[in-house]
Amino acid sequence: MQCYNHPEQGAVAACASCGKGACETCAVEVGGRIYCKQCLATGVVPVPTGSNAPSAPGAQQQYSAGTRWLLYIVSFLIPIGGLIAGIVLMTRGDTESKQVGTNCIVVAIAGFAFNCVCVLCSWLFSGILIAAVEANSALLLLLA
Ligand SMILES: [Zn+2]
Ligand SMILES: [Zn+2]
Repeated sequence: MQCYNHPEQGAVAACASCGKGACETCAVEVGGRIYCKQCLATGVVPVPTGSNAPSAPGAQQQYSAGTRWLLYIVSFLIPIGGLIAGIVLMTRGDTESKQVGTNCIVVAIAGFAFNCVCVLCSWLFSGILIAAVEANSALLLLLA
């Protein structure tokens, strides 16, 4: 049997879907069965889902809801970590990583802004407190 795509090449296997011969470059193993590249390209081959499935780009969900929330919470609490995680995720290329990465960065920025507000508030509060204590002691001095 010859490869359907490369007539000069001998087939190493027959496609499990269409039965055509596939050479070494054309044969692709999916879930323990050999398919030709043409069948894979047309999407007739069922890509197995599960933990031991080969990591096919797209389609599958890589991030569970729990993982996402954990990422977002960490991004909020540690904005620098969230920013780095977001940038790393965005460079991965698949849309899901990009989406989670973008969210991480947004949450990190929100967390950073929140931290700033907190610090400002505590500064203001301690400033008022110190001023109040000073005013009090000045009053006490005057009364004494
Ligand atoms: Zn085929
Ligand atoms: Zn071939």
